[in-house]
Amino acid sequence: MKTPTPTARRGVFSFWTGMQLWKQIFLALTAGLIIGVALNMSGNADIATSIKPVGDLFIRGIKMLIVPLIFVSLVTGVASLQNLSTMGRISIKTFVLYLATTAVAITIGLGLAVLFQPGVGVDLGTAAAVSAKAAPTLTETILGLVPTNPVAAFAEGNVLQIIVFAIFVGLAITLAGDAAKPVRAFFDSAAEVMYKLTSIIISFAPYGVFALMVWVAGAYGMDVLAPLAKVIALVYVGCVVHAALVYAGLIKFVARLNPVRYFQGSIEPVMVAFTSTSSSGTLPVTMMSAERNLGVSRSVSSFVLPLGATINMDGTALYQGVCAVFIAQAYGVDLTTGQYLTIVLTATLASIGTAGVPGAGLIMLSLVLASVGLPLEGVAIIAGIDRILDMARTALNVAGDCAVSCVIARSEGELDEKTYDTAHVLRADTALTSASPSRTAA
Ligand code: ASP
Repeated sequence: MKTPTPTARRGVFSFWTGMQLWKQIFLALTAGLIIGVALNMSGNADIATSIKPVGDLFIRGIKMLIVPLIFVSLVTGVASLQNLSTMGRISIKTFVLYLATTAVAITIGLGLAVLFQPGVGVDLGTAAAVSAKAAPTLTETILGLVPTNPVAAFAEGNVLQIIVFAIFVGLAITLAGDAAKPVRAFFDSAAEVMYKLTSIIISFAPYGVFALMVWVAGAYGMDVLAPLAKVIALVYVGCVVHAALVYAGLIKFVARLNPVRYFQGSIEPVMVAFTSTSSSGTLPVTMMSAERNLGVSRSVSSFVLPLGATINMDGTALYQGVCAVFIAQAYGVDLTTGQYLTIVLTATLASIGTAGVPGAGLIMLSLVLASVGLPLEGVAIIAGIDRILDMARTALNVAGDCAVSCVIARSEGELDEKTYDTAHVLRADTALTSASPSRTAA
């Protein structure tokens, strides 16, 4: 057998390192799926599980970035706004869009489940009792936005409190004028450092994504998935329908941009969200892609995206719609129109309170079930396959954040069309170079 020459070896290596990051992640995801399924079918699920720490390591690396990245980039983002009233306008538009898209998502979920009846004929057997999570009151929610101690908010990773503090610091920098010049320069420089660090960590995404995919595909065999296959299919189809109708529609008709580019530009965070099942954990990737691939300005992306990772959960709402109807059907409960409306309202509000972490939507499902008197035991049935559903819903949650950031940026004149139209350049081998991220099309 011939041994490869050094040149040939370098050729194979540069084929991989020179590839665009999203392609690397996509290949890793596909390979992970195939290998995971093969391990599962050959009775080697434990090998698949033993790979998981590689994925966890990557997720820990991204999570390490969240607090400093949100803080410094939002401070610089707000401080660079020309006009203070812009902040108020952006906030209102963002809230309205986030809530409206979530309400549509849950309606799609309910509609699909009513149409395809996933719960009819399902034998629920006996399930463990689950108690509903109590919803915080409105006053508690509003008071909770303002940190009494910003350092504690950083330490706890409380994103909403960090956002509020960062907005105030950014506004104060603007109002303080010349006196704040050194502070402004410090934050600008710190933001660049954080973005560089983010691109370094993100270049490990293919390995993390591969490991997580091998683990999940290896651990969930057909015997676990088959009984609830219809629920899984409906959640996945629902997510695709929502993205194709609502996000593509918003991008095309409201932002007047090419929807295909939006999907290309969002693919990296969507794939990381799919495998990590955490929209907060994906946030640094989302912010980087929005800026670098979609041309969203930092002042918009640094506000809209952290907020979205915390309060915008279209996938979660859609999933709750499907699951609520599934549980009602499986228990033979007929829901009235009033109850459907209650589900839309509760799921929209519950999605705001859902943290962008793995499995949070399942806990909030108990709130939605309780609002219409459905048996909470239903949660235990869904729990067995929740990771698989979480993958789809988190991917949609993040896709929604990207879509809204484009629409808001476009409406504020804060979207760089040239980058939106041409860039898709995050290449694995650019992360460690010293220049700021390249914007040339590959
Ligand atoms: N995992 C989801 C997210 O991070 C939340 C959920 O469980 O629905 O967006």
